[in-house]
Amino acid sequence: MDNNHVIPYGKQHITPEDIQAVVDALQSDFLTQGPKILEFEQKFAQYIGCEYAVAVANGTAALHLCTLALEVKEHDKVITTPITFAASANCVRYAGGNIVFSDIDPSSYLLDIDKVKQLLESSPKGTYRGIIPVDFAGRAVNLEVFKSLADEYGLWIIEDACHAPGGYFIDSTGKKQNCGNGNFADLAIFSFHPVKHIACGEGGMITTNNEILYKKLLMLRTHGITKQDDLFVNTIEFAGGRDKYPGWYMEMQTLGFNYRLTDFQAALGSSQLDRADQGLMMRRKIAEIYNEAFKAKPFVKGQSGMVSGHAYHLYILEVENRLGLYNYLKENKVYAQIHYIPCHLMPYYRDSGWEEGDMPLAENYYKFCLSLPMYPTLERKEQDFVIDLINKFYTI
Ligand SMILES: *Cc1c(COP(=O)(O)O)cnc(C)c1O
Repeated sequence: MDNNHVIPYGKQHITPEDIQAVVDALQSDFLTQGPKILEFEQKFAQYIGCEYAVAVANGTAALHLCTLALEVKEHDKVITTPITFAASANCVRYAGGNIVFSDIDPSSYLLDIDKVKQLLESSPKGTYRGIIPVDFAGRAVNLEVFKSLADEYGLWIIEDACHAPGGYFIDSTGKKQNCGNGNFADLAIFSFHPVKHIACGEGGMITTNNEILYKKLLMLRTHGITKQDDLFVNTIEFAGGRDKYPGWYMEMQTLGFNYRLTDFQAALGSSQLDRADQGLMMRRKIAEIYNEAFKAKPFVKGQSGMVSGHAYHLYILEVENRLGLYNYLKENKVYAQIHYIPCHLMPYYRDSGWEEGDMPLAENYYKFCLSLPMYPTLERKEQDFVIDLINKFYTI
């Protein structure tokens, strides 16, 4: 590698087809609220295998609308993992509810269902409203078992599938269950930030099989306003019509937001979605090479190994002397990253009483974890360079 060649941990892949799709949208009659949105939503729903999809401004907006659609209120308690991006927890706070963190399974890095069960069993029924499991790093949560637990306690599930479009788990009958397919979670969300699998610049999607929630989300996405006659509350007479509602009439029925995606972003998303499976294959290949390279190395404390249905948004190693390795890679222009600093120890959450020792397994994971470069256009010689650097660091 030459001295100025930077290798980040993640990176978007934009093709001439993507660029043409955006240019076409820019030259069309609609920059926003046009036909590209529904096209992207339908294509995405088909890819994931769910009934409904709602495109929104970003993944955080998607999470926020989910908590509103599920009517999270002040003092409601919702459970999530500390090893996630802050937005998975923050969305509950936006709606006025409280987040209760529950520790991870150190072998999968995912929310540990047994810990969630203990939490539910140790409080009176009705204490919790919902669970937000995260398909962290691209590894699918087994939502079948989470759903049976959630049903027992009358909880809803929002699946944060930002890392896992195309990921899946195998259910108890041997069937593939795609992340976000809505068979077990009430709602699922995705992000189209450039570092995720599908890039829109900024963008997000909510998926569901629940028609009532779907209709609520459509309204919440655009100021709480509807233009649908059969939903109107005010009379035709008030609206200024005679035998039907006049053409201009619309109603704001609930407090919503402007969380819309634009048509040119949706055009980019659609074009990217056409290559999603190809990207997934590349990610898998890269993971296999890393796995082979670091298998049984004495400096490796943990790695996930090949897992069926893993979407490999991230490739994570737990290593000795993580700080030294991180700095050494950085000196060589390889920008590894840490996912994540445990959310419960962010000053904002410390303010509500969370402290060190609360989530010992997540905190221990944080001491060693490092995300290596992982993106479909990472070339073999670049990956070999990263692997050689790591081996070299531990033999110096
Ligand atoms: C990226 C991400 C989000 C937020 O998505 P944005 O589009 O950046 O708002 C939420 N949860 C997880 C796990 C993420 O990785």
